[in-house]
Amino acid sequence: MNILYNSTRNQNETVTASQAILKGLADDGGLFVPQQIPALDVPVSKLATMDYKEVAYEVMKLFLTDFTEEELKDCIAKAYDSKFDTEAIAPIVNADKAYYLELFHGATIAFKDMALSILPHLLITSARKNEVKNDIVILTATSGDTGKAALAGFADVKGTKIIVFYPKGGVSPVQEKQMVTQKGDNTYVVGINGNFDQAQSGVKAMFADKELAKKMNDAGYQFSSANSINIGRLVPQIVYYVYAYAKLVENGDIKEGDKINVVVPTGNFGNILAAYYAKNMGIPMNKLICASNDNKVLYDFFTTGTYDKNREFILTTSPSMDILISSNLERLIYKIAGNCSKCTAKLMEELKNDGKYTITEEMAGELADFVGGFATETQTAEVIKDLYDKTGYVIDTHTAVAASVYKEYRKNTGDETVSIIASTASPYKFTRSVMEAIDANQYASCEDFELIDELSKIANTSIPQAIEDIRTAPVLHNTVCDVDKMQQTVEDILSK
Ligand SMILES: *Cc1c(COP(=O)(O)O)cnc(C)c1O
Repeated sequence: MNILYNSTRNQNETVTASQAILKGLADDGGLFVPQQIPALDVPVSKLATMDYKEVAYEVMKLFLTDFTEEELKDCIAKAYDSKFDTEAIAPIVNADKAYYLELFHGATIAFKDMALSILPHLLITSARKNEVKNDIVILTATSGDTGKAALAGFADVKGTKIIVFYPKGGVSPVQEKQMVTQKGDNTYVVGINGNFDQAQSGVKAMFADKELAKKMNDAGYQFSSANSINIGRLVPQIVYYVYAYAKLVENGDIKEGDKINVVVPTGNFGNILAAYYAKNMGIPMNKLICASNDNKVLYDFFTTGTYDKNREFILTTSPSMDILISSNLERLIYKIAGNCSKCTAKLMEELKNDGKYTITEEMAGELADFVGGFATETQTAEVIKDLYDKTGYVIDTHTAVAASVYKEYRKNTGDETVSIIASTASPYKFTRSVMEAIDANQYASCEDFELIDELSKIANTSIPQAIEDIRTAPVLHNTVCDVDKMQQTVEDILSK
């Protein structure tokens, strides 16, 4: 079956998978969605015998139907290799009545690696298929995590260059060190004298600039984005839910056909949407539990039917979930509106103009798969300590938001369905918050690297390479520019 993609805001514009990956966003500002969600065509009993790469192929071939078998297998092989520190790629750990699906074994020790390690390969394959002759230049603005994961994914990928802008002084010291030590001749990291919004606006302005596009084209380049709305990031994320279900069957934790719950610490709604797509492909799932931190715009949406971003932005210890506009929710809105692009476009217009919208009763009726929950900062810290005290297993702050929401859910509903918690970051990435949750008195006065050594001792796990790199790697990028010089900086880089 051939799957085409259309914009959530205009059903009539269809493109192939490779075109959707190249474009990222539709011209009308909508997100590309598959015209239908394909059903898995191999039984779970067979998937259970496969390794991660093989499962990835079985899932992705159904969505990326204009890729040949050879092309897709080649992308998969290049992505899920020794960049990951475990052959399982996404191992499952059972602790205190939940199954933690560890999605942080890639180069930057957070779950964005699951998709950003394959996106570059999907992108250059797409470019080749569509006879794009230009080199692809990835432009990204980052508030910290995405930038490093994208740099690691694109480093030394032929036919690409990547330029990341970050707010100088606006990211954590660890995040900055991770970026400015990035290796690869095609990687460029630029600090701007401004904040994240200014970095983002500057990048968007370059994407929209037709004159610049022409200039680039003449020089043999075109821009693209590694943003999480690209279906080239969504599709690879479906894989690990299918893989996890099959592994639970293989390990005898569930029987084939049993339903599972999935709990996801959510920001931009990409990860949990992938779980929803896995369910629609035929993986038996009961509830999809959407966990938020104090920025609980999604919890409010699921409980009231109104999405309202007009609220205070709260900085939390789970910064990758500090988000008030969950872009990928648009794909769910489209689905619960009965694939109505007019309805979706209207709601998104309201979001743009008023910062809020309310779905119809009928649409709300389609949300029965979802449960919204949130965890306060105190609850998040408590669950890290509790789980460690009980089992010795240490989770990061984002995962802890999900663990806390799951605990509440289980208590309130008595639902004992086997549940997977998406574990989205290594505790080593947020060591200070994690260690202070475990024992504030003892750890508050320690230096960062002391804490890392301490974590390694108490969790009995080895320090990931990504952290060792920060200790020792030399700074390779030191460009800083003013906000109004971003375009000039890009042109300078590309004219070298
Ligand atoms: C990006 C991120 C999230 C949120 O994922 P979404 O797909 O944006 O909902 C959660 N945890 C961590 C560690 C992340 O990096």
